Amino acid sequence: MDIIEVTNLHKRYGATTAVDDVSFTVEAGEIFGILGPNGAGKTTTVECLTGLRAPDRGTLRVLGLDPGRDRGELRQRVGVQLQESRLPDRQTVGEAMELYRSFYRRPADGGRLLEMLGIADKRTTQYRKLSGGQKQRLAIALALVGSPEVAVLDELTTGLDPQARRDTWDLVEHVRDAGVTVVLVTHFMDEAERLCDRLAVIDSGRVTALDTPAGLVARVGAQQRVQFRPSVPVDERLLTDLPEVTDLRHHGQHVVVTGTGNLLQAVTSVLAVHHVVAHDLRVEQASLDDAFITLTGRRSV
Ligand code: ADP
Repeated sequence: MDIIEVTNLHKRYGATTAVDDVSFTVEAGEIFGILGPNGAGKTTTVECLTGLRAPDRGTLRVLGLDPGRDRGELRQRVGVQLQESRLPDRQTVGEAMELYRSFYRRPADGGRLLEMLGIADKRTTQYRKLSGGQKQRLAIALALVGSPEVAVLDELTTGLDPQARRDTWDLVEHVRDAGVTVVLVTHFMDEAERLCDRLAVIDSGRVTALDTPAGLVARVGAQQRVQFRPSVPVDERLLTDLPEVTDLRHHGQHVVVTGTGNLLQAVTSVLAVHHVVAHDLRVEQASLDDAFITLTGRRSV
């Protein structure tokens, strides 16, 4: 079932076209990523989706509602954590939680949410005294406090240290496992690859690809590299004759074989037959990073 439908969305700011004919759908229960470089139009897209901005053209449907017309109802059912959401400096975590709970018909248990996010001990701490990671966790807690059916999370882990990022990823999975459909805006490849079921890659206001992370990688040519140090010299032709192998090079004592399909198995089988032991064996897959660069011609960060 489609929870979100975006059809031919357009949005301009003066002379800047921020969103230029974007269409995609999000299914119930998935983590859907909107991935793209800075300025690609990601935030504008989710702002339109959540009724925070009026599109110039296009049709939007979220939980069967129109974000422009039914904004009040949607606010009850869609949790939003937008980039750089700020709270008053002197408001405590507990006060913010209570205030936000009061906005909703079906508020979640605030204490449990803070517990889940690892900031239960910050209840009486003022917003200005929280670390970047704690502010981020609070923003996520506040996005979830209305027991939403859909959570929109924008640049969730920007500015977090590696451990806090991983904890936040676990948390997003936890939220999805609890039945919430998640829209995740990110410019981080590793985050998209780890979390998202499907992704829309947006560049200069347009969707350049819409697929699973694995599908995107496959689309740019599923080249793999197998590297090893042979125990005895190998006859190159044994490897280059394999249909899976497209290239073979030597790097010092190492042999680097590039190819497609079940490359690793093909290479290791031939080596085994000829009693060659492959030391320091390493396999590298094309990554979502490679896919992104191919699709947008840019590095993500
Ligand atoms: P992203 O989230 O992918 O970084 P945005 O949706 O924030 O992209 O921005 C898309 C484009 O629209 C950018 O060129 C940005 O500078 C411009 N833009 C965003 N918000 C505004 C605004 N309020 N006024 C004018 N231009 C804006």
